Amino acid sequence: MSSWFQRERKAIETPPEEERKIRTEGLWVKCDGCRAAIWKKDLEQNWELCPKCGHHFRLSAAKRLALLLDEGDWTEHDAELASSDPLSFVDTKPYTERLRESQEKLGMSDAILTVEGRMNGRPVICCSMEFGFIGGSMGAVVGEKVTRAMERAAGAKTPLVVVSCSGGARMMEGVVSLMQLAKVSAAAARLDERRVPYISVLTDPTTGGVTASFALLGDLNIAEPGALIGFAGPRVIEQTIRQKLPQGFQRAEFLLEHGFLDAVVERRELKNYISSAFDFFLA
Ligand SMILES: [Zn+2]
Repeated sequence: MSSWFQRERKAIETPPEEERKIRTEGLWVKCDGCRAAIWKKDLEQNWELCPKCGHHFRLSAAKRLALLLDEGDWTEHDAELASSDPLSFVDTKPYTERLRESQEKLGMSDAILTVEGRMNGRPVICCSMEFGFIGGSMGAVVGEKVTRAMERAAGAKTPLVVVSCSGGARMMEGVVSLMQLAKVSAAAARLDERRVPYISVLTDPTTGGVTASFALLGDLNIAEPGALIGFAGPRVIEQTIRQKLPQGFQRAEFLLEHGFLDAVVERRELKNYISSAFDFFLA
């Protein structure tokens, strides 16, 4: 009997599971790398890297620029470009509504930021994709901004860095979205003609149309550890070729081993790595 009372009292002292969850919700995240619970603040102060195992969490477009560029020394280009919803597309809700929600939430007009700044003192043009904006998908705006960044880089002979983080083409813009692939690829060829170095950084995830265009067209294509990189998803490929895919297929390390990437570079090393690559290209 006494043990029954004790259990009862204990139950009253500790708040039920549900309540505890609500109280701490949003303060902790579980690491996909080591399963440890991490204090969100610790992640934020550590460039979204797990302090225990170094797992690379997703970084926002703006934070990415802060990581790569010299402090407070950049100008944004084409910030006003926004999609006109060319197909008047509606799925579970109108595309215009999705756009407005993302624009309000993130303070960006579309899924990419383009800036001109400095990296260890050297002028560079840098594009940084935002996964939070409709899955970092590439529609007309992303395609146009990357194209303009490439043209600007080619014109001024300023080295270019594009950081990809994307689920692929933007379904809601249909063929307009697919047309970006050709446009961006043509602009990348002009960079090459002008001998302006272009470094592509592939982060988790870089898939679909972005992989099929600018993400793998760099003079150097480098990825962050563990990044998912591919065109179609593994399930689609397995069903198409009717074969089981090897372990770690479409992860950065696997692609490096098979010659699709030039390097896998840890986030905190990225700035200096890219910087010395430009030293080498421009020597
Ligand atoms: Zn971890």
